[in-house]
Amino acid sequence: MIAKGAILSGLNQAFKIQELEWDDPRDDEVGIRVQACGVCHSDWHCTNGDYPMQFPCLTGHEGGGVIESVGQNVTRFKVGDKVVMSWMPSCGHCWSCVNGQGQLCDRGANLLTGVRDDGTYRIHNKKGDKVDQFAFLGAFSEYVVIPEDGCIAIDQDFDLLKIPIVGCRAPTGVGAVINTAKVKPGSTALVIGLGGVGFNVIQGLKVAGARLIIAADIAANKKQWALDWGAHHFIDASKHDVVEEVMKITGFGVDYAFDAIGKGAVQSQCVKATHKGGLSTWIGVAPIDQTQVELNTWNMTLYQQGAIGTCYGGASPFEMVPQLMGMYRSGIIKLDELITKYYKLDQINDAFADMLAGKNICGCLRMY
Ligand SMILES: [Zn+2]
Ligand SMILES: [Zn+2]
Repeated sequence: MIAKGAILSGLNQAFKIQELEWDDPRDDEVGIRVQACGVCHSDWHCTNGDYPMQFPCLTGHEGGGVIESVGQNVTRFKVGDKVVMSWMPSCGHCWSCVNGQGQLCDRGANLLTGVRDDGTYRIHNKKGDKVDQFAFLGAFSEYVVIPEDGCIAIDQDFDLLKIPIVGCRAPTGVGAVINTAKVKPGSTALVIGLGGVGFNVIQGLKVAGARLIIAADIAANKKQWALDWGAHHFIDASKHDVVEEVMKITGFGVDYAFDAIGKGAVQSQCVKATHKGGLSTWIGVAPIDQTQVELNTWNMTLYQQGAIGTCYGGASPFEMVPQLMGMYRSGIIKLDELITKYYKLDQINDAFADMLAGKNICGCLRMY
């Protein structure tokens, strides 16, 4: 299959639309006509060296589409089914998977290249070069071939243009609150970083019954959105010290803090903003070369403060995505409103420029 995709050819280069050649699906793979794919910060990390990528590579990991072809051993899907893609195609039999932690599947070892277990590639460019397939997906493309285990079925009446954020940022943010931090009703919380994940942390805090939600970001234009989505306070982190402001509001810190950025300084701020017994949850993926975070370990022990990482919302996407789709149908969470602008595939560089300028909650590519 030949289809257009947005290729990265090297570090700090713009996305370029190219025709790519996809293998037919193997026995345990499916071909998907991609309908929409969210523009997520993790894809940006692939462009600038934060993640150790090889090039050329095709990114895009928050996609939804319609099954167009299936390998002969695929039993869970048929042509025409609507699916959301998971960026962790859980194998079901490694140690993490059998312990109910499919988001930590051993397949994560090949997450950046997306190569098959036998080392072969599903995508080649016109020159015949092998193309890496970020997260086994590469959904900044009109079409993909992915493992069956990277597909999550959704009800056929859902509109694929409205729900792709359920493939990454919704489970990541909501799940961090309810699965990883296990926020108790009546709690107080801080979230730093209002991208798509941060707004989903706010959604999760509302679901969990938090009584005080403080949101912080360096983009002051996020304030009204933050308040509309349920935050009680907004801190302009470009002008104010977040920890000082949290102390002014709460007197002694919050119960829970969430880093939705992935920077050591912010992870440290989260710990400082919690009071005794508080828990900081680190969601944002830090650059690969960040190995240290400044922490007062004296306080952490004597104040019994915790810090914990969370991946994909702390639960298997095969558990979380259906759960969130049910919550969406019931009106408990919002998905449509997370997407504040759609772009065509060839506008992908504009979409990332807008993301970096803080103009959207989530931008989304629509392929048709
Ligand atoms: Zn596994
Ligand atoms: Zn993402």
